[in-house]
Amino acid sequence: MIVYCLLTEVTAVVLTLRPYPVAVDRRTALILVALLVLGVLQSETGRRVERIRRRVSGTPHINMTSVWTFAGVLLLPPLLLWVLVCGLYAHLAIRSWYRLQRVPASRTISNAAIILLSCYAAQAVLRVSGLSDIRSTLGHSWAGTFAVAAAGATFFVVNALLVLPARREIGRTPEALFGTWSDNGLEVATLCLGALNALALATLPGLVVLVLPPLLLLHRTVLVKQLEVAAHRDEKTGLYNTNGWHSLAERTLATASRQHSTFGLLMLDLDHFKQVNDTYGHLPGDAVLRAVAEAIIAAVRGRGDAVGRFGGEEFVVLLPGIAHPDIGAAAERIRRAISALTVPVGQLSITGLSVSIGMAIYPTAGTSLQRLLDAADTALYHAKATGRNKVVHVADLV
Ligand code: GH3
Ligand code: MG
Ligand code: MG
Repeated sequence: MIVYCLLTEVTAVVLTLRPYPVAVDRRTALILVALLVLGVLQSETGRRVERIRRRVSGTPHINMTSVWTFAGVLLLPPLLLWVLVCGLYAHLAIRSWYRLQRVPASRTISNAAIILLSCYAAQAVLRVSGLSDIRSTLGHSWAGTFAVAAAGATFFVVNALLVLPARREIGRTPEALFGTWSDNGLEVATLCLGALNALALATLPGLVVLVLPPLLLLHRTVLVKQLEVAAHRDEKTGLYNTNGWHSLAERTLATASRQHSTFGLLMLDLDHFKQVNDTYGHLPGDAVLRAVAEAIIAAVRGRGDAVGRFGGEEFVVLLPGIAHPDIGAAAERIRRAISALTVPVGQLSITGLSVSIGMAIYPTAGTSLQRLLDAADTALYHAKATGRNKVVHVADLV
């Protein structure tokens, strides 16, 4: 990881210092100043939205600086582009990231290096198309349009690929690796605004302020979407909360009833969890809950499998399309994974956890969600009453 970051940083510096055909005139310097001032202004006015966005977002974070950096790609030589990116990232790091999330300086530097490399890749595409900057595209209407579009696409793709090795939250889902549709939509929208921005600066520079209102509104729209997602998430574990899980389960039930298919439902309750709290304290107890959540997710990996936390140390798992012997195997996998957990807490580590699991299958155990939950709960109660650390299928009770 360190080698990768150093490599991107060194490459960014080397590419910044290479000779470049476009000379720095007074106008170009003024464009740099305008982009810096507007970028700082936008991040200052959007700070409140950004603060909430960072707090609720669980997926890779995409910031909105491309509006300014992509405009820089189309207007500035590498050295000034470097000044722009460093200026904007230093401002963000000092004003937002460090205070909100304690993002270390090394991370900001490698983020800035990745953005710079994306910028240089986009500029390379422009030059391959025979254009040095957007001012030279003005005379070539269609060729210029395609060149700018290709540069934007290159910026987007190179950026997405370069951040991949740096993802801390490596997950199996494409969403965890590449961000949600709305995150990517935001990135595309900022690139579009960046291109318009550059066009304004190259022709009627005063019009560049017109980009600020749509930008601030765009920022808010994305926040609404993120709040919607957050309303369905359990904060402590990142799993679905009761509400989120219920609406998903209702949809799965409707599909199953339409297609005459089946789905399984597991209800889990950790055994003697109160003792964990009593022995180690509530915060280590929370760490155990997070580890259990991760273990359950790792143990169920089918499409549409949904894990929810029903408050406390009770979890539910929805397994679409699963039938009799397989559901038992899935439940066993979860039970074993939790038994094998070692949760580090300071110098100590918590082991010896166990879980009791009740399971029910649609439609045999019931045709409404409430019935199914009741059935799984009955099986869970039975597992608790007959020794805990076991899986009980409601169909085996008489
Ligand atoms: P068993 O289920 O095996 O009968 O015993 P238990 O000790 O797990 O009993 P129960 O399920 O009734 O206890 C739930 C305990 O979970 C009570 C509370 O201390 C703990 N708990 C509930 N929510 C949280 C939470 O968010 N964090 C932590 N650390 N503990 C919680
Ligand atoms: Mg309980
Ligand atoms: Mg319990």
